[in-house]
Amino acid sequence: MSPHHLLLATRNKGKIEEFRRILEEIAAGQIELVGLNQFPNLHDVDETGSTFEENALLKAREMCAASGIAAIADDSGLCVDFLNGEPGIYSARWAGVHGDDAANTLKVLNSLADIPDEKRGAHFTCVAALALPDGRTHTEEARFDGWILREPVGEHGFGYDPIFRPDGYEISSAQMEASAKDAISHRGKSLRAIAPHVINLLNSLG
Ligand code: IMP
Repeated sequence: MSPHHLLLATRNKGKIEEFRRILEEIAAGQIELVGLNQFPNLHDVDETGSTFEENALLKAREMCAASGIAAIADDSGLCVDFLNGEPGIYSARWAGVHGDDAANTLKVLNSLADIPDEKRGAHFTCVAALALPDGRTHTEEARFDGWILREPVGEHGFGYDPIFRPDGYEISSAQMEASAKDAISHRGKSLRAIAPHVINLLNSLG
């Protein structure tokens, strides 16, 4: 049987790499991942939801409807305890410009400038969402606990990784090898949880 096509509904390069690594490992030969570059006319989806789940479903549903094939999306972000969970769903545009990782991390560091280590707790959340052309959907949510560092370190990963130290580790998530981050990260956990549902639901389409 030829593999089912699944659209990766994100333009974030860091996420695309993580989606491909994690889903290809689990579903090799069963799913063929298709990038948004195959659908040059698709518009970006406005993230108008008020939760990670609403935004993930919005992206998956709209990209599925526009492309005509099953789509998987995520909505994710950094929730800082001292900032009452902010930046949360606004993580990508926290400093004003969408996707400006350097400005976003600096804004978090400045917001915590005088805050002692024990009050620098934070977590990433990720909701992975699948949408099928027949209207069915499935979501999985996961979190990645840790601490905000005092300055950026490390070259791997993306976004807030250089200022995030996973709980129980002495290095930032930007200093971790890709596979080590995948094993414990919010995106790794939510994608491993959704993968069997993706395979079952795609197979049920025939
Ligand atoms: P989204 O595209 O609205 O889901 O934006 C998610 C934003 O959260 C990204 O642009 C990053 O700033 C941040 N983020 C999500 N996951 C990670 C991660 O694994 N490492 C670092 N930053 C992340």
